[in-house]
Amino acid sequence: MRLLMREGKCPEAGRENIMRYEWMDTYLLQKRGVTKDLQETWNWIRYHVGGKMFAAICLGADGKPYYINLKLEPAEGEFFRTQYEDIIPGYYSDKLHWNSIKPDGEVPDELLKGMLDKSYRLVLSGFSKKKQREILGLSCCGTECAACGYYGTMCQGCNELQGRVFHAPEGKPCPIYACAVRKKRMVNCAECDILPCSIWQETKDPQLSENAFQKSIENRINNLRSDKKHGI
Ligand code: SF4
Ligand code: SF4
Repeated sequence: MRLLMREGKCPEAGRENIMRYEWMDTYLLQKRGVTKDLQETWNWIRYHVGGKMFAAICLGADGKPYYINLKLEPAEGEFFRTQYEDIIPGYYSDKLHWNSIKPDGEVPDELLKGMLDKSYRLVLSGFSKKKQREILGLSCCGTECAACGYYGTMCQGCNELQGRVFHAPEGKPCPIYACAVRKKRMVNCAECDILPCSIWQETKDPQLSENAFQKSIENRINNLRSDKKHGI
């Protein structure tokens, strides 16, 4: 793919532009629902969640990065800018919410990871909770509906059916959906301190053996918790 320089826009021509955060692309792409593209006119690699940008790497004419852009709550962005001279108001962006980080500066890796996580969460949380589940590709109990053999034929997924799936009690939503989504207004059970609760233990597919059921609980918790690990 051809990389183009946005004419005359590189703010610090002549800077060496060494990327010390080589892990960044892999780190961002392992988050659920993330896509990336190259905005050729600007020469920015953009990372989106649900179609909205939450991070970007601004490239110079030589294809090397000169800024990393990410979004933070205004007060937090302001605080970090006072702590590190390598964090400045967002280059070519809304300077209240966006921040630019020099890719060859002194910002520690773990801090940048934390800021990227926050940016991802901030943009994701701008969507409705239903839409967030859709973007994450997980039902509220951590099931990947699209990977289920019934999905699209016998079942349209608990998100679309508001929990009234074929295995739910007649006329009622599935008890996990009823609790997490309707009662507690959560995106999913990962937000709950008592996961996996008694409702989980009681919501069993009768076709599963006890072992298979416990394995399914483990897998669903892993899905939910690995999302947490990746900054959700
Ligand atoms: S157990 Fe409930 S919450 Fe989980 S996928 Fe089925 S209907 Fe949805
Ligand atoms: S109590 Fe917590 S873990 Fe159990 S279904 Fe409700 S939200 Fe999910």
